[in-house]
Amino acid sequence: MSYEKYVEEVKKISNSIKLNEKLLTTNRKGHNYRDLKFKKKQTRIDTGNLTNILSIGEDYIDCESAVTIGKVNRATIPRKKIIPSLPEGDNFTVGGCLAGLGLGSSSYIHGFFNDNVIDFDIVLGNGDLIENVSKSNNSDLYYGIGGTYGTMGIITRVKTKLIPCEKYVKIDYLNYNSFESFYEEFKQRISDKSDDFIEAFANKKDDYTIVAANFVKEIKPENISVIKDKDILKQRHMSIYAQIANKKNHTYLRSLDYLERYSYAAFWGHYLYTPYKIRDYVYAGLMYSLMPKNILDSSPGHGKYNISKYFHAANHIVGDYTRDEYVLATDLGVPLSKLKEAMDLADNMTGTYPRWICPIVDNYNSKKIFCTRKPEVCKDEIILDLGIYGIKNTDIKSKKINQTFEKFSFNNGVFKGFFSTCYFTYDEFWKQFDQNKYENIREKYHAKDNFMDIYDKINYRNKIKKRNLKAQLFMFFGKKYLKQINNNKDRLIR
Ligand SMILES: Cc1cc2nc3c(=O)[nH]c(=O)nc-3n(C[C@H](O)[C@H](O)[C@H](O)COP(=O)(O)OP(=O)(O)OC[C@H]3O[C@@H](n4cnc5c(N)ncnc54)[C@H](O)[C@@H]3O)c2cc1C
Repeated sequence: MSYEKYVEEVKKISNSIKLNEKLLTTNRKGHNYRDLKFKKKQTRIDTGNLTNILSIGEDYIDCESAVTIGKVNRATIPRKKIIPSLPEGDNFTVGGCLAGLGLGSSSYIHGFFNDNVIDFDIVLGNGDLIENVSKSNNSDLYYGIGGTYGTMGIITRVKTKLIPCEKYVKIDYLNYNSFESFYEEFKQRISDKSDDFIEAFANKKDDYTIVAANFVKEIKPENISVIKDKDILKQRHMSIYAQIANKKNHTYLRSLDYLERYSYAAFWGHYLYTPYKIRDYVYAGLMYSLMPKNILDSSPGHGKYNISKYFHAANHIVGDYTRDEYVLATDLGVPLSKLKEAMDLADNMTGTYPRWICPIVDNYNSKKIFCTRKPEVCKDEIILDLGIYGIKNTDIKSKKINQTFEKFSFNNGVFKGFFSTCYFTYDEFWKQFDQNKYENIREKYHAKDNFMDIYDKINYRNKIKKRNLKAQLFMFFGKKYLKQINNNKDRLIR
């Protein structure tokens, strides 16, 4: 923990930006479904050395911006503290969660990750450093930064609140066979706020599970479902989904394992339906073996089995648009009261299941730009991240599906996660968000002409369909793999 070293690192970043004449970007591949080729033409600012926790107090943690959520949790949970709103990816960084949007199953009480940030430092496009950006210091930047996805400056330090926690959680699985019975209980639990964590899954039509987790002080070691770190044969997320599939009532996990339940392999895509069988490894192994090493290693420190690798690799090999015709990866913003409509829409557009339903309390503030609802349209304070990740079970074009979803979110006054697949047009996008506010703040903080514009960044896509041998092999095995997974839909993970 050294503030001196941090100051030196920031000076280096600031000096390199002062000498730079091109557009700037972070050097991270990070977590998103987009084509990142634009980075090749821009100056990549290396934040890879900003990985130190600077200090931890009773109610805060101060981190350099590339500190991962996994590192934070390992430092705070032994002290019985956590960041109030945590995304479930151990390799997400605090800088990425602020510039992008971090959210998770405690967000229904604590809002987004950025709602819990106390202050941060940022190096601007002219190389100047602004320190301690907070609710009272450069508040337009404090509220405006969420969801700007690296188009405002280079964040170098993030200080966040801590709240008490316990080292273990009890997870209850509540199963429902109709939307109505599920929705009644879900709404009630959200308004009661008595669970520490809550999320839900639509496993298939009329098959819902609420997953509610609560801290417990002590449990017998033999009752804990997973105890090994990074054990590929007993991945943490599997214990949760296996329990859903097996209709368990409850399980216990270490809090750390609960928080990292989606970190490996990935519920987030094709793996969910994968029965634990050799042939899956053969297909998966073949797919991975076809990927060049530089693609597999393209997100440093992200662990070998992260689903985003599949997307990156597919993207490199077959192109962004082609990939989208096989797998959907989209997060739909939905007001709580419109969930049924959203589910029906998803059924009509694509039969993709499961769906992740994560409630978030939207702490509306008029200075926010991309990370809050339009209160005149969306009266619900609770909005949902409806995550649809999986095989596209329809011939409707991905573009049409995504645009329909985007329209649904926008018409209901809610935004969508820009890390997911985006197809909105320029006009639709700026009809939803306040372009003047964004441009003024970019002008004021020297981001204009130094960082890519957000619309260009999130819609930058590779239109080229590749026809080389590697692409053809990938499609051949990929299609077979997806078909095989589809055939096993109802069996889930064993
Ligand atoms: C498979 C998958 C699952 C996901 N699941 C969740 C989830 O459960 N909960 C959730 O909240 N989110 C989820 N996300 C989205 C993810 O949280 C956000 O994309 C988040 O921003 C990722 O953090 P990161 O550190 O990897 O950021 P990156 O992906 O590296 O960055 C996100 C954006 O922020 C910018 N950025 C990163 N660091 C800095 C910095 N230091 N200064 C300025 N700009 C910066 C980048 O340029 C980029 O545009 C998921 C994404 C994927 C692909």
